[in-house]
Amino acid sequence: MELRDRFDRKINYLRLSVTDLCNLRCRYCMPEAGVAKLGHEAILSYEDMLRVARAAVSLGVEKIRITGGEPLVRRGLVPFLGKLAALPGLKELVLTTNGVLLPSMAADLKSAGVQRVNISLDSLRPERFRAITRCGELGDVLAGIDAAESIGFPVKLNVVVMRGLNDDELEDFAALTLHKNFSVRFIEYMPNIKDAHWQDQVVSGEEILQRIGQRYAYRSLEKAERCGPSRDFRIEGAAGSLGVITPVFSHFCKDCNRIRVTSTGQVRSCLFSDAQVDLKPVLHQNDERVLLQALQEIVMEKAEGHCIGGEEDANPTFAMSSIGG
Ligand code: SAM
Ligand code: SF4
Repeated sequence: MELRDRFDRKINYLRLSVTDLCNLRCRYCMPEAGVAKLGHEAILSYEDMLRVARAAVSLGVEKIRITGGEPLVRRGLVPFLGKLAALPGLKELVLTTNGVLLPSMAADLKSAGVQRVNISLDSLRPERFRAITRCGELGDVLAGIDAAESIGFPVKLNVVVMRGLNDDELEDFAALTLHKNFSVRFIEYMPNIKDAHWQDQVVSGEEILQRIGQRYAYRSLEKAERCGPSRDFRIEGAAGSLGVITPVFSHFCKDCNRIRVTSTGQVRSCLFSDAQVDLKPVLHQNDERVLLQALQEIVMEKAEGHCIGGEEDANPTFAMSSIGG
């Protein structure tokens, strides 16, 4: 079975946010005070998430990424992951985390069947890391990276690049790939607050590559299947790789293969569109055919593309922490 939208894009990737709570408060993602804890009736149970995932996989989804908020703060996550990993037809189960809880959880995630973890890290300098995350300790994330590496997870680091905040660390991050098989991916900062000057903070993928190119010679790598929107490179002789993800300045909408489900059961077919459908009433009907139909309808409504960064930019507001990036 294949899930295709009106523009003949094959939808085979589900991003599932299991919580909008987090143990950090990154300035570009969360309000300083955090987000209010919702009652359990507002949040999808693991049972309901599993039903959504099973339906999506039966329709052709092959890859699920668990995200949040910080997914590792939701209690009971590991047994849920084990059930997801066992879904027939699911080829990839991966997770995005800030890494803080990996020292105590990496082994359990691996045993549950998670194949890869992406770890977000925007600065290698302790004071700056604390300033960006408002409360984080760099050492905790570095310990998380070590834990992931020791247990045998391939290490992928996500770096959101913001002008004047951490763009002077591009070379330091690139250097991490020289001797270790790390994959470091630079992400263009996306506007998720109404800020007339947001464009001043975005460093385009092109500029990131050009600046790294002033220091290192690198070459393009071929794209693997289901590998997402990253354009990947390797510095000559390096053990690892670099990538850029350019949602703002070089849209990858025409190849978009994903839908997102939030922890409150909202399905979004585009991160930058306010359009979303509440799956909770559908789940309450307890009829799998209705659920399948709802997912198919949402995919058919998927927008052709977004216009962030373009002339028609409507700059929608959204909380990245509730959608999961
Ligand atoms: N807490 C986990 C983490 O930080 O990896 C998972 C959730 S977080 C919302 C998922 C990804 O979205 C992270 O890599 C984060 O850096 C990225 N992100 C959040 N806000 C962003 C923004 N405004 N622009 C670009 N990326 C953003
Ligand atoms: Fe938390 Fe991740 Fe958002 Fe940072 S980016 S506040 S770690 S959810």
